Amino acid sequence: MQSQLTRAWVEIDLGALLQNGARVAAHTGSRLLPMVKADAYGLGAVRVACALQELDPWGFGVATVLEGDELRRAGIERPIIVFTPLLAEDFDAARRARLTPALSDAASIRVWQRFRLPWHLAVDTGMNRAGVSWREVSALHDLIAAAPPQGVFTHFHSAEREDGSRREQEERFAAVLDALPTRPEMVHAENSPAASRRHGSHARWTIARPGVFLYGVGFGDGAEIAPEPVVTVRARVVDVRTIEPGDTVSYGATFRAERQTRIATLAIGYADGYRRALSNIGTVLIRGRKARVAGNVTMDMTMADVTEIECEVGDVATLLGRDGDELLTIESVAATGGVSPYELLTGLRSRLPRRYRHDTDE
Ligand SMILES: *Cc1c(COP(=O)(O)O)cnc(C)c1O
Repeated sequence: MQSQLTRAWVEIDLGALLQNGARVAAHTGSRLLPMVKADAYGLGAVRVACALQELDPWGFGVATVLEGDELRRAGIERPIIVFTPLLAEDFDAARRARLTPALSDAASIRVWQRFRLPWHLAVDTGMNRAGVSWREVSALHDLIAAAPPQGVFTHFHSAEREDGSRREQEERFAAVLDALPTRPEMVHAENSPAASRRHGSHARWTIARPGVFLYGVGFGDGAEIAPEPVVTVRARVVDVRTIEPGDTVSYGATFRAERQTRIATLAIGYADGYRRALSNIGTVLIRGRKARVAGNVTMDMTMADVTEIECEVGDVATLLGRDGDELLTIESVAATGGVSPYELLTGLRSRLPRRYRHDTDE
């Protein structure tokens, strides 16, 4: 029987994760509130949060009560902010797990204030997803004065672009801060793209909320800092065959050999998160060399054209990350597949076991 550990897996470099966190902290001059929602973008929230403790973050950010509860059960004692608005029926569970909600409507604020527990005021400055509109914060003035929030924050919608929107959102946020009864202890706004390009920003915040940068996704040419790769996806070669001109590969026969062609089958497919959109256009690395995906990616297996590569059953292929001198970044693979790097990363499925590397502890 084939072991689950040898078929295909994700390697996570916790040392690189820490370097990326230290880079954001140094560049922003702020303590961190690492965003570990969605199981730390698929890397494993508990392992990631425990590793990041070394950087003395102010707290952690999650999207759901269950995600916060998981961190508490793992012994994380720092503040944990839940950023997706809570429904009233979630309040008790949030309180039991000692989570800090992001609140923005009068009814929720009133209920939570009775507990005399910290909360953060979510202010919308243009994203129009969650948070009280910057135009309407003044309506909450008396309520906020009665039991002020520990923190106040907003969220940028296009910080990776030079389109002036960040400046506009910062100005709206600054106006809200000026109008609050008192300035809360914690003021925060920066996600990864904003933390990667501070140039042009006049604002200083108490904490930064990086997510994807920590996990190795950078923001290209305009960025002032770049992350180390953290995530590597590998799969074993489980079949190698030679096909004749005119033969086809995989469902739909979208790959047709023009000459004698060697095809390697990798034990990974779209049910692992290797996107079907990479059919016939994705690149994989085998023995440190690039090979093109041949035919449609299937649920459990992906074929590659290895005509130019001495390749054998049992070889380890790299679908994301480094092999020798070649590197497949999350950004480049996502761009090839026409998906966002966030989607590619969070789409890596639990069928791929996670293997953690840390220079100092393993
Ligand atoms: C997800 C999220 C972040 C982190 O975003 P990245 O682009 O991954 O850095 C920060 N703040 C809020 C409110 C979020 O929802």
